[in-house]
Amino acid sequence: MKYNWSVIGHEKQLELLERDLESGKLAHAYLLVGPNSIGKFTVARKLAGILQCENDFCHNCRNCEQVEKNCHIDTIQMKGSRESLKIEDVRKLVERLSMSSQSRHTVVLIQTIERMTTEAANSFLKILEEPPKKTIFIMTTNALKLLLPTVVSRVRLLKFNVVSVNYLHKKLREIYPDQDEEVIKKVSLLSLGKTGKAISLMENPELLAKYIKIYHDVQNFLDHKNIHDRFAYVERLLEEENQTDIFLGILKNVLRTKILGGDRASKKHINTLSKIEDTGILLKHNVNKRLALENLMINL
Ligand SMILES: [Zn+2]
Repeated sequence: MKYNWSVIGHEKQLELLERDLESGKLAHAYLLVGPNSIGKFTVARKLAGILQCENDFCHNCRNCEQVEKNCHIDTIQMKGSRESLKIEDVRKLVERLSMSSQSRHTVVLIQTIERMTTEAANSFLKILEEPPKKTIFIMTTNALKLLLPTVVSRVRLLKFNVVSVNYLHKKLREIYPDQDEEVIKKVSLLSLGKTGKAISLMENPELLAKYIKIYHDVQNFLDHKNIHDRFAYVERLLEEENQTDIFLGILKNVLRTKILGGDRASKKHINTLSKIEDTGILLKHNVNKRLALENLMINL
């Protein structure tokens, strides 16, 4: 590859982007689609760096540095995953885009674009239909189905996916040559193929410890069937935000590994996996979390 992206995996997607850059056939809007924590926004920011750097993405010049630090005057970053994007936000963006740009491009990065309210999305659609000169939108989503089809039809879609445990292990070994083998093994296993997650676990020992603890809890769980202990565990899961997601993710991964390893109870595990999926959907829809989790525990 021509540019130093410093990204784990996603080679095919990066090659496609490089082809667009080389041929001068850049789309005016890109939408990077795929599960969260796999580095979509990182790729988006690197692409912005490539577009703004006058020296083949040198990682040294002022443009490179400013894009990285999110203080580049013509690179607008709307980062976030929860807070909704309202019509006022889009209006402000339109206003900003009407001003002249001093750089090679005006790049607009929007993370988790499904955060837009319908009103905001409709207003945003108008900019996509008639994008200001030199402007390139790079957006990310993990819920393509929630977007207006009229928005999706006006962007170049790039699909991203999780990587395999073996691949991740190999790459982490390259990036962290001095790290303990045991840590690399655990991170590869626990990050569920999500490259962004893998890096944050490598860089954050406290978070890794939390994941390892939940991993042991999951193992323990599958061996012991005491329903009182399980319900008590649900209570503990609910005490801290995000813990439930981590627990369900690791549980799925452990079951998948068992199925792939030809475990005798594979049929039951497949059944459990679909129950976990159902629970995940229920939890997203703000049902009574405790009830949904207890129901899953009974069925494990
Ligand atoms: Zn540069």
